[in-house]
Amino acid sequence: MIPAEKLLALHHHYDSENACALKATATQAVFGDGNPDADIVFIGEAPGKNEDLGGKPFIGAAGKFLSEMLESIKLSREDIYITNVVKYRPPNNRDPLPEEKESCRPWLEAELDLIKPKLIVFLGRHAMSNFFPEEKISVVHGKLLIKKIPGIATTYFLPLYHPAAALYNGGLRQELLNDFQKIPLSLNKIK
Ligand code: URA
Repeated sequence: MIPAEKLLALHHHYDSENACALKATATQAVFGDGNPDADIVFIGEAPGKNEDLGGKPFIGAAGKFLSEMLESIKLSREDIYITNVVKYRPPNNRDPLPEEKESCRPWLEAELDLIKPKLIVFLGRHAMSNFFPEEKISVVHGKLLIKKIPGIATTYFLPLYHPAAALYNGGLRQELLNDFQKIPLSLNKIK
């Protein structure tokens, strides 16, 4: 069992030493949230307005949709762990800059190293491109990727469309709902 206090101490450590320019405009850091012993870690891009104010990842409309999809595979937010590539909200939800992603990379790697999930699920192309810069989300969504990445213990990755992108787009929404069912199938393959 990984004590929740250990994970919290990790977050406080990386928040205090982080030099990301976004700290100046964000309300607060949004720490990863959920079960430190989770088999699955979801990685999003960066906090939005709700997350910046509430201090937790995926608590807006995209988060509600995500919870519904988790329910469809008999999981809840308490079963999984969810975090973002960048821990501070970019102004007006613009895409994070390469140097902003870079300054949060050791933080992301440290939380992944503590949890050592069996499967990492990318929510959207931005999260995926940090680990698979050569892949296109329109091609690899819903496909289980296997790769040894320096500094990452996990070798199984499942890229999905971002729930915010799929929320109001009928076609993408159905693809995401279908792809979500690959999560339990992928876990079975890994076990
Ligand atoms: N979108 C993200 O990528 N992350 C969040 O925490 C919320 C919305």
